[in-house]
Amino acid sequence: MKWKEQILTLKAYQPGRTTDQVKKAYGLSDVVKLASNENPFGSSEKVKECIRTYADSFAIYPDGYTTGLRTELAHFLNVSEKQLIFGNGSDEIIMMISRAMLEPGKNTIMPTPSFPQYRHNAIVEGAEVREIELVNGAHDLDKMAQSIDENTAIVWLCSPNNPTGVYITDVQLRGFLDRVPEGVFVVLDEAYYEYVTADDYYNALDIIKEYSNVIVLRTFSKVYGLAAFRVGYGMANESLIAQLDPVREPFNVNSLAQKAAGAAIGDQEFIDNCRAANKEGLEQFYAFCQENGLSYYPSEANFILIDFNCDSNELFEYLMSKGYIVRSGAALGIPGTVRVTVGSTEQNNGVLNAMKSFLAETVKR
Ligand SMILES: *Cc1c(COP(=O)(O)O)cnc(C)c1O
Repeated sequence: MKWKEQILTLKAYQPGRTTDQVKKAYGLSDVVKLASNENPFGSSEKVKECIRTYADSFAIYPDGYTTGLRTELAHFLNVSEKQLIFGNGSDEIIMMISRAMLEPGKNTIMPTPSFPQYRHNAIVEGAEVREIELVNGAHDLDKMAQSIDENTAIVWLCSPNNPTGVYITDVQLRGFLDRVPEGVFVVLDEAYYEYVTADDYYNALDIIKEYSNVIVLRTFSKVYGLAAFRVGYGMANESLIAQLDPVREPFNVNSLAQKAAGAAIGDQEFIDNCRAANKEGLEQFYAFCQENGLSYYPSEANFILIDFNCDSNELFEYLMSKGYIVRSGAALGIPGTVRVTVGSTEQNNGVLNAMKSFLAETVKR
């Protein structure tokens, strides 16, 4: 068969183990998943209420223009409705952008380690991938700018970056964007935007106003706690969105997801509380790292990458046997580390205790 050559060696996404699988494998009654940066507090009560009273027919296709959610989000963000595009998760928007722009003969620039879907989609489309190593967990924006040439179609930025939690400041971002030619598309993935509290963070709305080649991606999967529904969005100037929209499949955001996301926007108190709780949770991790002499990156997201300077798969397995699923740094391209989602106070204490006993046991050996 005539598969694209590059598909033949590509591996499908490897999902982590589910809590049920881990319970079974280790004979545990309680397992806490701190591996995918999901919200430990779930989602707003308003979402639950909205879903409970959902009365539309399941036989009818979703609204292909995402009208209700679009109106609410445009109003909330203070952008025009035509500046928004919705996806079945921001993952799907990453796919749409890649599909719209990448092909053999073009190249795309991205940080590494970062969110793996930038690379994955670029490979599917047959584009050349230029990965630029992070420096101290941060984008090497200078090197990224230098790597742009006449065949560069897309530059990917992830702020705060998954898996390091390090963000791009306003000054850094503008300095970079000023160096990017107008004909090069810049994707600014802000999946963790709502968690950010740093004063020198940029204002994404100003950025898309001033730079017509930038799209900002956000999601309802993280702080909004709606990962199961799969809703993400992109915002950019109207003509850019209009050019991208034909690549989108007609009914890509399902009806329940549209309702749930709309309801979730209406409860910003929930978001504020989650942001505050996350900040306190991060402090628990920082204190632990300092007590134990472990290095880490200060995080503006709801996860932290901690360097244990050990076999991260061994630590990963150990924590799993104690009922905590984290992400092994070996799988993320930063061996020796683990990435842990910030949970509730109690969950954080639990995983930190398990980490403490790991450290105690490895010292004994
Ligand atoms: C989780 C995540 C996404 C994907 O979010 P979905 O909207 O669930 O597809 C995108 N980018 C980054 C950096 C993420 O961490």
